[in-house]
Amino acid sequence: MPSSTSSTRNADLHCHSTVSDGTLRPEALARRAHANGVDLWALTDHDEVGGLIEAADTASSLGMAFVPGVEISVSVGDQTIHVVGLDIDATNAELRAGLAQVRQGRDARARAMAIELERHAGAKDIYACALRQAGNPALLSRTHFARCLVEQGLCANTHDVFTRYLTPGKPGYVEHDWASLADAVGWIRGAGGLAVIAHPGRYRFTSTEEWALFARFRELGGVGVEVVTASHSATDFRKYATIAREFGFHASRGSDFHSPGESRCDLGKLPLLPEGTLPIWNLLH
Ligand code: AMP
Ligand code: MN
Ligand code: MN
Ligand code: MN
Repeated sequence: MPSSTSSTRNADLHCHSTVSDGTLRPEALARRAHANGVDLWALTDHDEVGGLIEAADTASSLGMAFVPGVEISVSVGDQTIHVVGLDIDATNAELRAGLAQVRQGRDARARAMAIELERHAGAKDIYACALRQAGNPALLSRTHFARCLVEQGLCANTHDVFTRYLTPGKPGYVEHDWASLADAVGWIRGAGGLAVIAHPGRYRFTSTEEWALFARFRELGGVGVEVVTASHSATDFRKYATIAREFGFHASRGSDFHSPGESRCDLGKLPLLPEGTLPIWNLLH
């Protein structure tokens, strides 16, 4: 595993393949990361580890250090948050069973979303369309539905779909119960991994609630927070670097890349971690 402890390395520890809601296969993602100068790379599909072998094999053939990862969907109060697990043993039985349980809820939610989107957005046969894209009912995500609405000419781009239909309070949004924070962190730790709060700047907590989330996460054994991610502004980079210091969390960096046509930031192209943060890769095996 990586020997460098420098905060200046080009680590990208968050992205998605066709095994969740990305559009590139793990092999193509690995090649793209390597071509972009990434020197430490993790694949973190939503609630699924099925792409990790292909990703590891390709990274190894390219001489690029690889970290097996996953991004777990978690319910906290009435919000969904994401917890990234890094350096996990993807063969761990409890982790696999936990992820399977989380994925199991996706199909029923997708069917409910399809009804809402046909009713409110004028979409046609959208469940079938989304399933064609996802390839597996257990992987169906809002992103697949968003791509279908664009394909059917009902919205200009996927961002527009989320704004109009697929975020809380909008007519195609369906509430869902994901994993608990304790379970998600427990599965990651049980599989020898590092639990990291993904893109905290995206959530809608008050500062008191956010503080409580970080305190609880630390109590459960969480060790990291994403500081540099595509959904953060420069102000967010500073804010979460400070929070990481205050809580003793290590800082992570990841593009959350999904697709060449859609993602606002390519693999390995984000700013480096701010000075003075402890890089999460110092904790890798
Ligand atoms: P799901 O796990 O099915 O709820 O889908 C969540 C995924 O939707 C995220 O991982 C993102 O890929 C995508 N997403 C969420 N919000 C937005 C947004 N505002 N614009 C574009 N994509 C989004
Ligand atoms: Mn996604
Ligand atoms: Mn996420
Ligand atoms: Mn993600």
